[in-house]
Amino acid sequence: MAISQKSRELLAIKDRNSVKDLENYISDHIYRSSQIVTPTFLMNKTPHKKTILLIDDEADMIEIGRKIVASAGYHFLSASSGQEGLDYILKYKPDLILLDYLMPDMNGAEVFHRLVSSQRYKHLADTPVIMITAQPESDIDRTSLFEMGLASFLVKPFGHRELINIIDNVFILHQVRQKNKELEQKIRRTEYKYQDLIENANDLIFTLNLKGDFIFINRRLSTLAGFTREDWIGRSFFDLVAPEDRVEARNNFNLTLKGRARIFEIRMICQSGTPLFLSMNINPIFEKGEVVGAVGIARDITQRKKLEQEITDLKNFNESIIQSMGAGLITLDLERRITSFNNGAEEVLGYKNDEVVGRFLDEVIPIEESRKLLPDVVSQNHSLLNREIELTRKDGSHVFVGYTITPRIDNHNLKVGTIISFRDISQIKQMQVEVVRMDRLASLGVLASGVAHEVRNPLAGIKTMAQTLEEEIEKNDPRQEYLSRIIRQVNRLDELLRTLFSYAKPRQPIRKPHRLQDIIQEVDILLDDRIKKKKIDYTKILPKDLHKVFVDFHQIQQVFINLFLNAIEAMPNGGSFELQARAVETIIYARDRRKRAFVNQNKESQYVEVTIRDSGVGIKPDQLNNIFDPFFTTKPQGTGLGLSIVYRIIEEHNGEIRVDSKLGEGTTFTLLLPTEE
Ligand code: ADP
Ligand code: MG
Repeated sequence: MAISQKSRELLAIKDRNSVKDLENYISDHIYRSSQIVTPTFLMNKTPHKKTILLIDDEADMIEIGRKIVASAGYHFLSASSGQEGLDYILKYKPDLILLDYLMPDMNGAEVFHRLVSSQRYKHLADTPVIMITAQPESDIDRTSLFEMGLASFLVKPFGHRELINIIDNVFILHQVRQKNKELEQKIRRTEYKYQDLIENANDLIFTLNLKGDFIFINRRLSTLAGFTREDWIGRSFFDLVAPEDRVEARNNFNLTLKGRARIFEIRMICQSGTPLFLSMNINPIFEKGEVVGAVGIARDITQRKKLEQEITDLKNFNESIIQSMGAGLITLDLERRITSFNNGAEEVLGYKNDEVVGRFLDEVIPIEESRKLLPDVVSQNHSLLNREIELTRKDGSHVFVGYTITPRIDNHNLKVGTIISFRDISQIKQMQVEVVRMDRLASLGVLASGVAHEVRNPLAGIKTMAQTLEEEIEKNDPRQEYLSRIIRQVNRLDELLRTLFSYAKPRQPIRKPHRLQDIIQEVDILLDDRIKKKKIDYTKILPKDLHKVFVDFHQIQQVFINLFLNAIEAMPNGGSFELQARAVETIIYARDRRKRAFVNQNKESQYVEVTIRDSGVGIKPDQLNNIFDPFFTTKPQGTGLGLSIVYRIIEEHNGEIRVDSKLGEGTTFTLLLPTEE
């Protein structure tokens, strides 16, 4: 066997020592042939090498111990008395102590006792100690030593293996104990942590027994409700609940006892008197599959409740403003679906809120109108202000509205919809029209009075001359007819001038019962020539026994003159013209400014209905609404006053005029003339 350089050196050192040293070395070498073991007395410890201290007064024993311990790869230290042992423990902090029980000055039990109980060794008290005893030492109180933490007993005599085994086992046991101790500490720390969490939680946390009495309540109770928790332990949870919520709390608790977790809201009484709103979460506590109580977590939601209430109030407030405002308000989502429709909108458009909300705007009003109302460019975030549009109402009638379009913006400044606010401006429109007309009429009036001044005097002259001639010519002279015609025409001119005035400054009609035939007769005489010249086929159907009409003779005559003239002018190449009258019994509904009918007296009256039909050029549908407007004319020489005067007169008579026309086929005017006062 080759001996290495290192070994040779060691051998040289050992040479000077006892043979036992050599034996030691060799046994070391045999046990751990791969490594050179540094003698333990050099105290040159490597970190994972454990140090074992043997305290024994017998030198032989120490030598045997050294041999065995070193051979197992441990560092070996020895002390020959109890006191020296204790000093070494302090100085070298061994990992394990082999302690002989029987020693002269201080026995093993006492050394051990000092080690575990003296303040000096406190940090070393954990070091495992193996007590070595001789067989007959039966007076040792093993139990109390074990209770004090002794690791093991070793009875002399013992073999090499036995000692190593017991050392190894004690180390393993010690390690396990150490680990358990750490775990225990960890558990204790975790427990503290949870306890801390529960105690200082922002929520009220408590446990209840099956009766609903508090077993535990965390500290939050006092800050939340102002009560001392000690006062509440053992008392019923339900006493803490506001009386009006107790039934609900009880029901939920009973369900929890059946094993169901419950979440609900209740009010809790407070020292201050004002109840708190709590959101409760109660869960059953199970033990061996049975519910033994409940754990509750309650969060103070008073603030949230208050906010909710404020939001509701605000919403109601806004809603009431929106509903009561005079203007119509429609809100749309991004797909142009109606999301709200207020009272104002209902009134202006005639739809009810619940028949339009959820529908597309394009389905509710004609597409051309909705496109005009809300062109796609409105997707930009600016408002469109004060525009006007004519909208179709539910009943098909039209209404002029002025409107504003505002985008609806959410919190993130994103467009989420559109608000259309609008107002019925039919009246304003009407007034505007009236103002324009008044303006025109005012200048017309000025003109008319000037003309009248100039025309009426010569007219009076003509009339006087004619009347003089009438007297001078023989009564049966056929020329008398010419003269009376001249006078009638002059009278008519005079009447026309007066009508012109009356238009600018309307006067009340002078109404008397007249035969319709008489009025028509006068008109016929005036227009006979023209009718014949244009080759118009003129038929009259006038029942003999027709009621008298209660009208102003001259005004109604003027109505017919205008209607006849228009008909003649509509048939430049001739045609057929028919006048028909009959008695009817009906109701004429009064109409408001929006041309909406309303019944003010639900009584039928007797009327004479006159239909005037021509086979002329007809009226374009889009002009039908305008023909009664003053100054509306399609004729190069027209004044556009004829029909507006007709309309005004008929209205003043509480009658009615309607028109029906087909382009290229002809036109029919229908009049209702009253027969009674
Ligand atoms: P004017 O006759 O001076 O034009 P009116 O008020 O009498 O003024 O008539 C207004 C317009 O109504 C006429 O220009 C014409 O276009 C239309 N109109 C009236 N009556 C008829 C009719 N019988 N046939 C066709 N168009 C008519
Ligand atoms: Mg006319």
